[in-house]
Amino acid sequence: MSATDPTDPYVVALAPKVHAFVQPDGGWCLNNAGFLGDARESLLVDTAATERRARLLREAVLAHGLPVPGTVVSTHHHGDHTYGNGVFLPEARIVGHENCRREQLAAGHQLHLLWPRTDFGKVDILPPSVTYHERLTLYVGDVEVRLLHPGPAHTTGDTIVHLPDQGVVFTGDLVFHGGTPFLPMGSLTGSLRALELLRSLDAPTVVPGHGRVTDPSAYDATERYLLWVRELAAEGYARGATPLETARRAELGEFAAWRENERLVANLHRAYAELEGLPEGHALDPAVVFGDMAAMNGGVPVACHA
Ligand SMILES: [Zn+2]
Repeated sequence: MSATDPTDPYVVALAPKVHAFVQPDGGWCLNNAGFLGDARESLLVDTAATERRARLLREAVLAHGLPVPGTVVSTHHHGDHTYGNGVFLPEARIVGHENCRREQLAAGHQLHLLWPRTDFGKVDILPPSVTYHERLTLYVGDVEVRLLHPGPAHTTGDTIVHLPDQGVVFTGDLVFHGGTPFLPMGSLTGSLRALELLRSLDAPTVVPGHGRVTDPSAYDATERYLLWVRELAAEGYARGATPLETARRAELGEFAAWRENERLVANLHRAYAELEGLPEGHALDPAVVFGDMAAMNGGVPVACHA
């Protein structure tokens, strides 16, 4: 990787003491993180998909005059957000939703199964050791950090990180800015509800799980997509078409420009499950979901860009 690699992370100052760590272009395995604090203590929101990238994040925190984080909040269990947790132990306590812990333990080295040739470095599966059920408030110095669980949405263990005094929200993968939402491990209906919760926070600065720092207009774009998927699924389901057939016939319109649009078929699998009356977050077969996404890409599996 050269000094000018287009996937090199960069840091954005969001408010006094609060920063986003952005990994362009936000594609598969290129998630965002965040950090906040002062010379006495610091908190991290998410880590990264590889040990190397997590070490870049650790260096970025220290370069901003902060100590090694004493708390890592995991917005959900996916490996791009949690594989780097080990880089922050033993100093950090990992905090997340109770379902995040359960899913992370169940998923294990999930990214190694999807991308066996990617060099992830040393990765220990380190789930939250402090869990909560509905909400939890932390203080880092005088910064209030509110953790909110929206119910099943991107996964069944999502956490929204809201800083009310700074007007900043870290959405985790409830929002992909410039990318396609990804619902197979969560809920379409729940994702719509989560957007309502995000709107109600009224935070002007929005750090999505992937993609550039944005504002609440990202909620509107995400909602348009989710409503479109719901309609497409209802039509396809009524016709007896499979999710793959429905995805192949779809006119993507404004969503054609979004990254990873092969996720449409994965999202249709989730929408079909809800039309069949299965509960939100009901497990889908990942081999079918990722197989259909590869089929959407002309037989080429999705690639990890970390
Ligand atoms: Zn995710």
